Amino acid sequence: MPQSRVNLLDFDLAALEAWLVGHGEKPFRARQILAWLHQRFCADIGMMTDISRVTREKLSQIAEIGPPPVIRDNQAADGTRKWLFDVGDDNAIEAVYIPEDDRGTLCISTQAGCMMDCAFCSTGQQGFNRNLTVAEIVGQLWQANRILLSENLETPWVVAGCAPVTNVVLMGMGEPLANFKNVVVALKLFLSDHAYGLSRRRVTLSTSGVVPMMDALRDACPVALAVSLHAPDDELRDQLMPINRRHCLDELMAACRRYLEKAPRDFVTFEYLLLAGVNDSPAQARALIRLTRDVPCKFNLIPFNPFPGAPYAAPSRERVRAFQQILMDAGIVATIRKTRGDDIDAACGQLAGQVQNRVRYRLNQVARRHESFSQEAALEQRAKTTRLHVAEKPFV
Ligand code: SAH
Ligand code: SF4
Repeated sequence: MPQSRVNLLDFDLAALEAWLVGHGEKPFRARQILAWLHQRFCADIGMMTDISRVTREKLSQIAEIGPPPVIRDNQAADGTRKWLFDVGDDNAIEAVYIPEDDRGTLCISTQAGCMMDCAFCSTGQQGFNRNLTVAEIVGQLWQANRILLSENLETPWVVAGCAPVTNVVLMGMGEPLANFKNVVVALKLFLSDHAYGLSRRRVTLSTSGVVPMMDALRDACPVALAVSLHAPDDELRDQLMPINRRHCLDELMAACRRYLEKAPRDFVTFEYLLLAGVNDSPAQARALIRLTRDVPCKFNLIPFNPFPGAPYAAPSRERVRAFQQILMDAGIVATIRKTRGDDIDAACGQLAGQVQNRVRYRLNQVARRHESFSQEAALEQRAKTTRLHVAEKPFV
């Protein structure tokens, strides 16, 4: 039986060195290969020209560069871009690029579906399919950078030689801390100077509150932390987020304080979804102030993004403002999240698109093959004619 080739996008530096040594190669090749992969977004081992032709040919027999293929690519009027990736077995995941004046943020997925079953989340309603591999997580960033560069994106930082994506948030589909092992390898690649070279402050992981894994992340690879709070008391949070029945709010606040001992930022970002008539009253805002008084934090208020069949609605703008004002009067920085990419369903909690309860994401097979093929062909063509930039300097 022919042996399947390893996917080079699955390796961090140490693992790649070990793999190369196991195949009779020098460990320093690992750094060369990582730079080709994650700084030049090279898609072909044969193009790694500082490696001898014989070695390239040998590597091509046993390894491949296998990002998840893009099967849909939508751009919103505000420049927000959403890519849908095929991860096999009729599973699709999404990443969203959000351009701003001084940064390009990519929101990436860590699981196909999610097992946390939050009542307000379309991903949660879809159920859990599986954890993404390292190559599937890192591959979203690889693809986004490569596609944007191939289109000659001319943001100031790209012109200065940096990659298009300057910030990564793990806020797409899935609970990142429920896929801990693969997420940590991916995070290490995002941070490594041999790969993406992002600073810890520019990488944010969002969790629903998997307390033991928050401690594990603090010890393994602390990055900026966002916690989805969404309720000021256990009774309501138990209903909205089943994880709260395992790790209550007191436990969660204590975990946040422990995380901050090693975090790259000196605050936690609390995400607070606003659901009309459920968690948006002035009394609930005041309860939040009491709950979080011992945790240095900022609040990001997110008006609910509806999806078909959702039993919730977003509060009025006045009510959202009033909620924000109560937090700000208590000296807490509270922002209201701008909704981006509305016209392509790229907003938080809509990433699964028009998916009904627990129905798997099935795509039209013929359209899918066609789209996938034409996208790849167009990319290959552009890659040939475009000089891909090299991110020589790590980002600050
Ligand atoms: N599983 C992680 C990260 C992915 S969800 C977490 O829950 O934190 C990213 C953010 O989108 C979370 O804050 C989540 O609560 C929020 N979200 C989920 N459904 C939403 C919806 N319908 N409208 C607005 N935000 C939503
Ligand atoms: Fe999962 Fe986060 Fe959605 Fe909850 S909000 S179901 S943890 S993706």
